[in-house]
Amino acid sequence: MKLKHAAFLASVLVLAACGGGKQEGDVRFIGFAPVTSKDKDIREVRTFCPNCGDPIAVDTARCPNKRCKAEMRWNADYRCPSCKGSGYCAACASMEQAKGDCYNCKGQGVLVFQGQSPECPNCKGTKKCPICKGTQKCDFCDGTGKVGTEVVKAKSAKFAGGGDDSGLPPSDPRPPAEKKDDAPKDAPKEEPKKDAEPKKE
Ligand SMILES: [Zn+2]
Ligand SMILES: [Zn+2]
Ligand SMILES: [Zn+2]
Ligand SMILES: [Zn+2]
Repeated sequence: MKLKHAAFLASVLVLAACGGGKQEGDVRFIGFAPVTSKDKDIREVRTFCPNCGDPIAVDTARCPNKRCKAEMRWNADYRCPSCKGSGYCAACASMEQAKGDCYNCKGQGVLVFQGQSPECPNCKGTKKCPICKGTQKCDFCDGTGKVGTEVVKAKSAKFAGGGDDSGLPPSDPRPPAEKKDDAPKDAPKEEPKKDAEPKKE
């Protein structure tokens, strides 16, 4: 009997050491790497609770959602979504920019046609890839191929809605989660429109 009990205890301890079945925090990389100077950098990082799907700050140990309270763990780093872990500039790769030279002007800085040579609009005359500036390093991960938790934290901060990230410098003094009406009481209340659309370009 005693032996059996000890074995049971040992197996419980092993389970605890494995993290007790904690789910891994959900980190999503959104958008594509820009490949020319015309492309907008629309890349975003968003982090969610793996259990209830609420936006949540990276490195949160337990979901603040009262109906969820799931415990979770976070990786130390993630494979860079822009270079797929290669560390190589995605623009140089997709536009076949050998040596980091601008594809549009073939590294000349100017376009030559009909006896004229206007400045290359892609590299603005710098002759180099506008994304990596000719270094051929991935701009998202600085050529490391990995995105660390700190970078995830910084890039996802505006979506996580947490004001309790002690590691982050206070960038916005207002609490991001709740919108408070600080207009005078007699002023007409402005309800946020449900169908408000982002401004078109
Ligand atoms: Zn949750
Ligand atoms: Zn990268
Ligand atoms: Zn490049
Ligand atoms: Zn160019």
